[in-house]
Amino acid sequence: MISVQGLTKRFDSTAVLDGIDLEIEPGERVVVIGPSGTGKSTLLRCLNFLDRPQAGTITIGDLSVDAAKASRADILALRRRTAFVFQNYALFANKTAKENIMEALVTVQKRPKADAEARALEVLRETGLDNKADSYPAALSGGQQQRVGIGRAMALDAGLMLFDEPTSALDPEWVGEVLDLMRRVAEQRQTMLIVTHEIQFAREIADRVVFMDGGRIVEQGPPGKVLDAPSDDRLRRFLRRVG
Ligand code: ADP
Ligand code: MG
Repeated sequence: MISVQGLTKRFDSTAVLDGIDLEIEPGERVVVIGPSGTGKSTLLRCLNFLDRPQAGTITIGDLSVDAAKASRADILALRRRTAFVFQNYALFANKTAKENIMEALVTVQKRPKADAEARALEVLRETGLDNKADSYPAALSGGQQQRVGIGRAMALDAGLMLFDEPTSALDPEWVGEVLDLMRRVAEQRQTMLIVTHEIQFAREIADRVVFMDGGRIVEQGPPGKVLDAPSDDRLRRFLRRVG
């Protein structure tokens, strides 16, 4: 069980996350939607302390971290239980696809190199990139780079996968292959928290859709309810804009 309680993040005096409460079941796919500037990326980034929240509790399995007094060890433990897929892939330009996937396995998970390499090759097969193992990011298409980004997250076998608009930096021609890979990850009953503007994809993949506005969760529920019969006015307006 993953549980977030009272998660609060201020930049200067502005509350970007205004006391977020969220519970996620193991294997659940939760899609977060909402206008830009509303705190969606900050929510994901606070869950593994890429941004440091000022208050709140984050629980992943048997690990519970109080943001206000998180130690370095707490933060590392939390990072070991989460895997992040970035909008702009965030691959190391000077490492091959295989080395990008191995990196955190070696440095964060302290796995032996041969073991990390075997896992990386396995994931490259699953992502259909086995023939790109030794290619550098610059030699890959945007879609292939993001598939490496997703493969890197898959390889970690983390309790929670966080996707921050994984297709929004892609040329339209590469969106489909990345969504296909995410569908395959979902079929493995991975716990996924996904920020996306792909409403059709949300409808298809989400067990639950969460609508955020102004640093708060305004409405949430099954996709059929939130996307097709929204009750909040802000959500209705948002869906008219993106839909
Ligand atoms: P979203 O992902 O929903 O578009 P973000 O989480 O990126 O929104 O940002 C929410 C708000 O927090 C925005 O107003 C943004 O300008 C602000 N913000 C994000 N990161 C920082 C930062 N490092 N310093 C100051 N303000 C920030
Ligand atoms: Mg964002």
